[in-house]
This record gives sequence, structure tokens and C-alpha cells, in this order.
Amino acid sequence: MAVTHSLGFPRIGAGRELKKALEAYWSGRIGSEQLQETGRRLRERHWRLQAGLDLVPVGDFAYYDQMLTMTALLGAIPERFRFRDQSLDLERYFQLARGNREQPALEMTKWFDTNYHYLVPEFDRNTTFRLDPAWLFGEVDEALALKLQPKPVLIGPVTYLYLGKTKEAGFDRLDLLPRLLPVYGEILARLRDRGIHWVQLDEPALALDLTPDWLAAYPAAYGALATAEPKLLLATYFGSVADRRDLMARLPVAGWHIDAVRAPEQVPQILDDYPADKVLSLGLIDGRNIWRTDLRRALLQAEAARARLEERLWLAPSCSLLHVPTDLSLESALDPEIRSWLAFAVQKLEELALLDRGLRLGAESIQAELAESDRVANARAHSPRIHSPAVKARLEALGEADFQRGSSFPQRIARQRQRLQLPLLPTTTIGSFPQTPEIRKARADYRAGTLHQAAYRDAMHEAIQQAIRKQEDWGLDVLVHGEPERNDMVEYFGEQLEGFAFTHHGWVQSYGSRCVKPPIIYGDVARPKPMTLEWITFAQRQTEKPVKGMLTGPVTLLQWSFVRDDQPRSVTALQLALAIRDEVQDLERAGVSVIQIDEPAFREGLPLRRQEWEEYLRWATRAFRLASCGVGDDTQIHTHMCYSEFGDILPAIAELDADVISIETSRSDMELLNSFHSFRYPNDIGPGIYDIHSPRVPETEEMVRLLERACATIPPERLWVNPDCGLKTRAWAEVEASLTRMVAAARTVRERLMHG
Ligand code: GLN
Ligand code: ZN
Repeated sequence: MAVTHSLGFPRIGAGRELKKALEAYWSGRIGSEQLQETGRRLRERHWRLQAGLDLVPVGDFAYYDQMLTMTALLGAIPERFRFRDQSLDLERYFQLARGNREQPALEMTKWFDTNYHYLVPEFDRNTTFRLDPAWLFGEVDEALALKLQPKPVLIGPVTYLYLGKTKEAGFDRLDLLPRLLPVYGEILARLRDRGIHWVQLDEPALALDLTPDWLAAYPAAYGALATAEPKLLLATYFGSVADRRDLMARLPVAGWHIDAVRAPEQVPQILDDYPADKVLSLGLIDGRNIWRTDLRRALLQAEAARARLEERLWLAPSCSLLHVPTDLSLESALDPEIRSWLAFAVQKLEELALLDRGLRLGAESIQAELAESDRVANARAHSPRIHSPAVKARLEALGEADFQRGSSFPQRIARQRQRLQLPLLPTTTIGSFPQTPEIRKARADYRAGTLHQAAYRDAMHEAIQQAIRKQEDWGLDVLVHGEPERNDMVEYFGEQLEGFAFTHHGWVQSYGSRCVKPPIIYGDVARPKPMTLEWITFAQRQTEKPVKGMLTGPVTLLQWSFVRDDQPRSVTALQLALAIRDEVQDLERAGVSVIQIDEPAFREGLPLRRQEWEEYLRWATRAFRLASCGVGDDTQIHTHMCYSEFGDILPAIAELDADVISIETSRSDMELLNSFHSFRYPNDIGPGIYDIHSPRVPETEEMVRLLERACATIPPERLWVNPDCGLKTRAWAEVEASLTRMVAAARTVRERLMHG
């Protein structure tokens, strides 16, 4: 009856087998055959896990990234690599991903609003496409040999072009479409020859704001691709496509997939006038989050859709399961009550199978499972673990004054200057210092229980003392403790907050072999006791100079976690903000005069559609203000954001009303400051004057030049001098060289400013 399928499965392996094999291959410990064998075994294992589905995805596996694999299949290798006219082998594939001696890697950027990163295709006027059959087809044959029904998954042609980057002024990458389509045609023909009936073409760009020419590309592209066999399933996700349905109805495809979790409101609209000749795949199980599905609700939704579509209804997760961990059953250490609320990829497929059975044989056939699902939903709704009356009461009691500093910036900064007595162009860093093997070992041993609390504290104190001494020697003005106690800027806080849970194996691919283990925010958030106070005050006791308290902001804590879905994200953000506010006030009471609240994820929380930006920016800004505004005028609040696309959100950044913001600018040669200038950004700014992402240490002169450029745009009284981001990934030798030069550069420019 309803066809069941999945849009993609996590590729990294429940034990991160792919990560380990990749890293072994890159370091020369294994050869490409062994890496390929790991890939083959993972694909087979993942297909077997999905074998209960009517169609299993093929092509969702990738040795690094699905967009890069698409680039390989389409033979769209940038000319600068000089790989043209030959089949791309794995070695070269990785050179595209990671760079080689002559060429930097393809750029990497976030996949829509997820934390997954893809490699950006590069296009220019001379870009050509040529099918490279070394990719995809071997995997299709593997699946066929296992007697499965493969459904190849490709990035659709319009989304593929859209997500690429034009590397040439005055050239529109959309002009490449006519050159691209024949290669897609060839891929489809070859799949037909293998007896493939369905191909999924992912077009998530349909859920973005698109200009008329991009919209017009859809009929052009799909008109050219129309085939009787294989049939095309046009897959959309991450947002509503209700406003695109007239356009989509004109495309000669055999079906659509829509995301009924992220955009449930589109379902009735789309069902209302759904084209009679197409199947509709309904994504009812959340592919972006780890909560167990409310089966009864999902079954009702499926039944309502079937009433309209009958045999044409398909069932699936909302999007590829790439964005969730693989298997919950590995989490034996997780609190059983919390575990009962969760489902990872394997469990989500079980839910899908249950839904299908319920739809086919009636609710009675899954009665026990429905009852269990109801029990879980009910328990989650009422668990005292989730609901803290005290937290809810605090939120209720908030008034406008809690979101406002006592005075305006000019008054505050005057008092802060008086208190801090800093020179013009004060120097500082973003927070972290190198995480040496000794520091990592002390943390790991402490976690494992082999290092006692007192010895651990001594080790951290030692690291902090050293960091303070070095900063004093180098002549920095506002010091940091160096964050030796933090493994991760979200995990560190989450572990100390109520309402957070952590997994042991909940890895999700971020890019290539890099995986993250996002915390789970399951309940009302509260801070039982101070989280950073002891380290910061210890650091402050080591020096006369001000030491910055260092915190992660509410929006970043939210953005880098799996967030509860039983209340709006904005409410969870305010709860996080209250916890951070408590920490800020404790630091202030302990005499800490400068406190930084990092929000590197502030921008990435922006919704995909512009019309939703304002609402997000409103609550995100309020969350930051709630966290930061509970201090006196002479306590200086810093924030830090490490990206450079500020253009659209500067008004919101100004609304944060941080006294000082440090940002990434060095890679763009301070260009970004122009937007701060033309927007008349009112508060202090620390434009990063060197790039910490590379081991290169710029000469003092180069930093002087950047600083002078900054002074030409922003009044020097409002400028700070700092690197682009934290220094935890660098070696001490580089840090020493770069920071001494940075201080020297600040002094040079300071002299010039003061003595003309
Ligand atoms: N304070 C953090 C650090 O220096 C900030 C990290 C970040 O911006 N991503 O490491
Ligand atoms: Zn940063």
C-alpha cells in the first residue's frame, strides 16, 4: 500500500567507522582499497537496516560530502586543479575536499540551516560537465546485488547550481543549466538500463526565497529531464513549498516529497489540489531532531492524507536522517526515562514501519505500540524532570527592565573607561588558548575518575597561571583565563545546567570526518550553581589587569543542541538566557569587570525564508539582552561572533547593545567594517586583525596596515585589537609570535594616532 522509503541514512557509522577509516587513510595507515572496503561494508550494513522499506536510498553515502560526490559524478572539477578529462579517483576527490600543495580546497559552507557542511561547487564561464561513471553506479550495482530495491538519490540540477558559487564577475551560473542537463539525462538513462524505477532528485532550494530566473529554471530543467522510466521523485525539505505548488505541479515528475514536520501547515494546502498523476511522499518523522514520534498523531496525519491520495501516498522521514545519530540502543548509560523519549535513525525507521502497518491494517494492528507511544508522550508532557515551576515562574515575572541596561552606551562606556583605565586601541583575545596534550589528558583523566578533583584543579590552575603570565609578558591589556577546563563551548555549560542530557555515541557528521555530539535540551533549563566563577576569579587573582569572564550565549547554546520540541525555541532560549544571566551577575559580584558572552551561532539561526527573519531576530536579541543586561554600568559586556556576513543583520547586532563586539574581518581585509561604518554601528568593535584558522603568522606591518585601515573607518576611540577567534587549535609558538606582533602593531598605531 503506502510505499515506504527514506531520503538518506547517516553515513558515518554507529561506531564512527567511516571517520576512523578516513583518518587512517589520510595519515597513510591504510590504503584506498581498505577505505573502500569500509565504505562498502557501511553501505551494506545501512541498507540492511533499511531493508524493510520498499525503496532504499543509494547515493546518500559519500566519502566526504554528498555535494562533492555530485560534483565528481558530474565531472564538474574546477579547472584550477588540472584534473580534467580523467576519472576522479579517491585521492583526488580528497584533494578537492582538503586542498593540495598548489590549490586550496573547495569552499565549505553550511547545508541550509543544519550544522552539516558541504563543499561548494565552483563555476565559471568555462565550466563543463561530463559524466564520470566511476561514481554512483558501482553503489547502485552493490544494492542490486543484495536484492534490494534501490532508489538513487541525487542533488537536483537547479539546487546543485544554486548552491554553487560563481567565480567570475558578470557571469551567471544559471547559464550553465543547458550544459548540465544532458549529464543528468545520461545518468537517468544509465539507471534505467539497470532497471531502476525511481530516482529521488533533491531540490531543497525550492524552500528558499528564489528570484524569478531561478524559479523559471525549474520548468526548463525538469521539462528536459522528463522520462517514463525511471520515475522522478522531487524531494523538498526544511521548509514549506506551499507557495511553489503551481510551479511544481507543472513539472513532469512522478511525485513530490514534502516535509510535514518542519512545515506541517503546508500539508492541507498541498493535499487540497494535489495533481492527480503524482504520488506524494509525506515526511512525517522528524529527520532533524531526536524525539520519538507521537505515533498516534502521525497515524492520524497519514490517514487524512490517504483519504485524499489513496494508493498515491508514500511515507518517509521528513528529510535525510543524516542529521540525527545512528542508533539509540547504544546509549546504555543514558537515563532510562530520557532515553524512552528519544529515537535515532534506526528507531525512526522502526517508527516508519509501524506507521505503515497501522495504515495498512488499521490502528488495532499496532495497538500496543500506540499505547506505548501515548504513554511516552504523556510522560514527557508531565514529567517533573521537564517542568520546573520555579523556572516557569521566573520567566513569567520578567519585565521590560530585565532586557535593558541601566544607562545608554555613552554613559556606560564612560564609567567603564574610568574603571578599566585601558589605553587607546586596547588589546585582548577571544578566550581560548592552546589545548595542549597535558590539558586534554588532565581533563580526560578527571572524567575517567583516575585524576582526583584536587589534582585536576591544580592542573587547571597551573594552565591558567601560565596563560596569565604569558599574556602579561606579551603586554595584552584585557586578559583571559584560556578555557583549559572546556572541551567544547556548549558542552561545558550544558553539563552544568539542569534540563540538558548527553549521549555517548550520539555523533552527527559536521563535515568530512568531523562529527559533533550535540547535547539534548529536554527540560526547563536552570543553573544550580556557578559554572565558571572559580576559574575566572582564580585567574583574576593572578594579575592586576582585568580578566574577562567567558561565557557561551543563549542563542549558541540553543543552536548547537538538539532542542525540545514541546515549546517554542524562543522560550527555551529565554530559559538559557536566565541561566547565563545568573552567571554574569555572580561574576560581577565577584569583582569581574569585563564579561564576554560568545554568540558565534547567532547568525546561523536565521530562518531560511526572509519573511521569518524578523521574528527570529526579535527573540534571539531578547535572549541575549536578558543574559547580558543584569549588570551595572561599569561592568563591560563583550560579545564575539566569528563570521563575516553581517550585512543583513547589523540592526539586530546593534540591538544586542553589547559594549564591545569582536568579529572576524581579517580574511576580508577589513571590508566588513564598511558596513559597520555605513550603518553607524554605535558601540565598540574589535575587528579581528589576524586569521587564527591558519598557522601563518602575519608580520607586524601587515597588522599595522589592517589596523590603520580600521581606524580610517571606525573612530579609534571605539576600536579594540584582537585576533579573529579563539586560539585553542593553535600551537603556543604561533600564539606567542602572533600576539606579540599584535601588541606591537597596536602600540605602533597608538603612537601614530597620539603623536600625529
Ligand atoms: N571563547 C571561545 C574561544 O575562544 C569562542 C569560540 C568561538 O567563537 N567559536 O574558543
Ligand atoms: Zn569565534
